[in-house]
Amino acid sequence: MKADVVIVGAGTAGAAVALQCARRGLRAIVLERRKLERAGAHWHNGVPGWSFDAAGIARPVHPELVAANHPFHLVAGWGPTRVVVTDHDVLEVDMARLVARLQGDARAAGAVLVDDVRVSGCDGGHLDTSAGPFDARWIVDASGLGGVGLLPTEPVAREDICTATQRVYAVSDVPAAEAWFRERGVTPGDTLCHASVAGGFSIINVRLHGDELAILTGTIPSGDIPSGRALLEDFVAALPWLGEKRSGGSSPIPLRRPYDVLASDRVALIGDAACQVFAAHGSGISAQLVASRVLAEALADGSGPLGYQRRWQRQWGGLFAAYDLFRRFSETLDADDLARLMRAGVMCPDTVADGMAQRWPRLGPARLAGVARGAARDPRAVVQLVPVIARMGLARALFAVYPRDLEHLPRWQRAVARMLGP
Ligand SMILES: Cc1cc2nc3c(=O)[nH]c(=O)nc-3n(C[C@H](O)[C@H](O)[C@H](O)COP(=O)(O)OP(=O)(O)OC[C@H]3O[C@@H](n4cnc5c(N)ncnc54)[C@H](O)[C@@H]3O)c2cc1C
Repeated sequence: MKADVVIVGAGTAGAAVALQCARRGLRAIVLERRKLERAGAHWHNGVPGWSFDAAGIARPVHPELVAANHPFHLVAGWGPTRVVVTDHDVLEVDMARLVARLQGDARAAGAVLVDDVRVSGCDGGHLDTSAGPFDARWIVDASGLGGVGLLPTEPVAREDICTATQRVYAVSDVPAAEAWFRERGVTPGDTLCHASVAGGFSIINVRLHGDELAILTGTIPSGDIPSGRALLEDFVAALPWLGEKRSGGSSPIPLRRPYDVLASDRVALIGDAACQVFAAHGSGISAQLVASRVLAEALADGSGPLGYQRRWQRQWGGLFAAYDLFRRFSETLDADDLARLMRAGVMCPDTVADGMAQRWPRLGPARLAGVARGAARDPRAVVQLVPVIARMGLARALFAVYPRDLEHLPRWQRAVARMLGP
């Protein structure tokens, strides 16, 4: 069959695009280099519930949904200063099950998914693969970070890559584990997140779930900052109540703002391949679920990959570029700085909740009054944030006018690089 769209990669992004395209009557083929059940993420991810709604994909339910509505304790370093978010809509999702669901739904909607096929390059609508050539009207590169690279993009700089590890362990002594959490002021079942423990952008995030412990670590390794995996190994070595590892995985996550160029007239990038990641905490799933819909709509209504590029950048590019600016700022903070921002009320449950939900900070009168009180108590904590917030606003304004006419793109890119950095 000659496809309308060939999608490279059957992880979350690729499977979601296949589903969205097939639903809209497009003939979609997915090529995955691994076995389909090995494609994509195999760990637990936090995903804001709204992104499933926005993508038109049903929210996960048990057992794909591991946890919801669990309070989140963000602790500056090893404490004691913390912010607790009790009201949020971030779902803890078993990613292997989500990817399997998206693949199954895509197949049921008419997409064809083929595994053990490695794509090596493309020329126009012609793809070179280990199973021979494939032709399509459009090609979608959903092959992740370090994937096939079907559009020319600059490599992600080492200092913009987070190494993350997530694992689920059996707990051999549940009462001892519960006592460990209570000693830290956390009800078992809540998330305890130690931030800035190995460089400004670093976390150790733990949650007890019945007789299992879920743990997530992430760092930007350099000098004496260890990888996320090394941080995790050290941390779990000190937990005598932990049993055997049950599941998990490690992978690098791109943290830079999404690429300025997401498409040509034949090819579109999506997911980690496009750096569509919420850089403040290295989360890619929400962005790619939403992008899968924007892309499929653009292909189905004839505006093509370039229509997708314009719509996604105008609606979402500014948000992701802005929070990348915040990520870069967060790298300069040690645990004491973070604690000061919390004590000054700038880093409060509402701002943390906005970041968790991957939305613009809501700056209502109550929030602004809180910031003003914080500024009076600790002017330095607030003042250092002012230029960051100003540039976040600039990012929003710049991406809202992403050029319609590609002739103007180089000028727009120069303005973005000048005002937001490389
Ligand atoms: C430990 C950890 C924790 C994380 N936690 C969160 C979180 O809480 N929330 C969140 O939103 N995000 C989180 N992320 C990030 C999220 O998991 C990724 O953004 C997401 O999995 C990327 O999806 P993708 O489909 O773009 O790419 P991938 O999952 O990398 O899928 C790409 C697929 O393409 C295939 N492929 C590659 N090259 C080729 C080729 N040449 N030919 C054919 N197939 C190819 C690969 O085999 C793979 O299956 C986390 C990441 C890690 C590592």
